[in-house]
Amino acid sequence: MTWSAGLQPWLRPYAEALVSYGGSNVTVSSVYRSYSKQLELRNRWEAYRAQGYTSQEIGERFGLWTPALPGRSKHQQGRAFDVSGPKEWLTWLGAVWKSWGGRWWESDPVHFEA
Ligand SMILES: [Zn+2]
Repeated sequence: MTWSAGLQPWLRPYAEALVSYGGSNVTVSSVYRSYSKQLELRNRWEAYRAQGYTSQEIGERFGLWTPALPGRSKHQQGRAFDVSGPKEWLTWLGAVWKSWGGRWWESDPVHFEA
């Protein structure tokens, strides 16, 4: 089973093409998430916030880029995937993704959604 099986079928070819552009510089780190997985990520993020970390610090140190509330994440709908890699690669892939009509934000550079 390839990583893209966690995405809706119509999205798979675009996601696979994008990730292939990153070659060995990037890896897919998260695709489909259940409600409980999303809740767990959100709770971890909230705990870091309670310790005084900013959203940016939590993203950079712990790889948690402001997880959406459970039920509001595109990961739960098979419409999002996260990619790990150097910031400059993610920024470039984000520009490519947006040129194809996808959604990407500099504030959450690992996250690509449709
Ligand atoms: Zn994401």
